[in-house]
Amino acid sequence: MCSFKHCRYFLLSIYLITTFYVHGQPYDLLLKGGHLIDPKNEIDQLMDVAITEGKIAATGDNIAISQAKKVIDVSGLYVVPGLIDPHTHVFVGSAPRTFANGFSSVSPDDFSFKSGITTMVDAGTSGWRNFETFKSQVIDQSTTRVLAFLNIAGVGMVGPPSEQNIQDMDPYLTDLMIKKYPDIIVGVKIGHYTGDEFTPVQRALDAGSAQDVPVLVECHLPEIPLEVLLERLRPGDILTHAYGRVNDRASILDDQDHLKDAVVAARKKGVLFDVGHGGGSFHYSEAVPATKQGFWPDSFGSDLHRFSMNSGMKDMLNIMSKFLNLGMPLYDVIAAATNKPAAMIKRPDLGNLGIGSEADIAVLKVLDGKFGFTDSGKETAQGSQKLQAELTIRAGKIVWDLNGLSTQNFAN
Ligand SMILES: [Zn+2]
Repeated sequence: MCSFKHCRYFLLSIYLITTFYVHGQPYDLLLKGGHLIDPKNEIDQLMDVAITEGKIAATGDNIAISQAKKVIDVSGLYVVPGLIDPHTHVFVGSAPRTFANGFSSVSPDDFSFKSGITTMVDAGTSGWRNFETFKSQVIDQSTTRVLAFLNIAGVGMVGPPSEQNIQDMDPYLTDLMIKKYPDIIVGVKIGHYTGDEFTPVQRALDAGSAQDVPVLVECHLPEIPLEVLLERLRPGDILTHAYGRVNDRASILDDQDHLKDAVVAARKKGVLFDVGHGGGSFHYSEAVPATKQGFWPDSFGSDLHRFSMNSGMKDMLNIMSKFLNLGMPLYDVIAAATNKPAAMIKRPDLGNLGIGSEADIAVLKVLDGKFGFTDSGKETAQGSQKLQAELTIRAGKIVWDLNGLSTQNFAN
């Protein structure tokens, strides 16, 4: 008896062989001549990628164009797995000045594909009380794959008092919701709690432990020392806003700009560090000393919302470009945007281009020139490279094509 995974590959192979001999063109789409970076499969070289029925059907040095119904020339471009943004606020609705079901969140498809993103993870904009509204209103309506951390606060981010009500932080009901939607809810979030009790963090940890999912700590916990927090987090838990110099959380650096011992110990233990740029949580005064000490991010969460997208953050590709210009190798930048966030949310099926994977792909261009990259303190670093999404493919379908690569030239 074969495993489900092996059976799936076997059936795909039979399908491809049958299609080839019957129709002569087994592939729906062939991306030809690009430089494939697929860190999970340790690929970093020129390689073609073929897609059939929304899945990756083949990767190879020179796949014949005669085998594909449609061929796109992507020479000079990088072909990478569809990007994963692990920190967004996309529970959009009509409530003013509010993230949950509110006007401060944004609609996933409006901002994902144009920056190469095929998966967004919402960072606790909803809690157990309103997750199902979020699901029916946004998740089920989006072409972007939308996953979620569930806020330990029952109503999520409906306004400042909502994340202070400890009585409504119910690990049992949070667990029930995770169990009901295990394919969508990937973890638990705690943040924006201004009291000095550890109970909210503990309840998030209890809920995460019960379902073996990570806890995302969105900092903004001014009365809880960073050292205590990091000590209590488990391997696989995530601290976001890692490079922010803000009032309501401690820095990862000491007074001499050295990484704090607790931060080094936490990373060694397996705690993960997300950028979580947002409108106010990325500062070069933190990022430059930290990265000079080798402290690179595990993921590039954008903290996307109506305000951050119009600030220095802009989009996740802009954040990736900042780190590229700080000296992070392109291969590592792609890993932190693909297979690493996939592993973070325990979805190893995502963020790679292995045969049989869903065909979520970003085709990126590295622009050379003079570019300014602004942080949350309105300080700008100059850079010579910038990433641009030329083509985004979601489940085999072209959902973004900046320069018409997939179309015919207009003939006068
Ligand atoms: Zn956030």
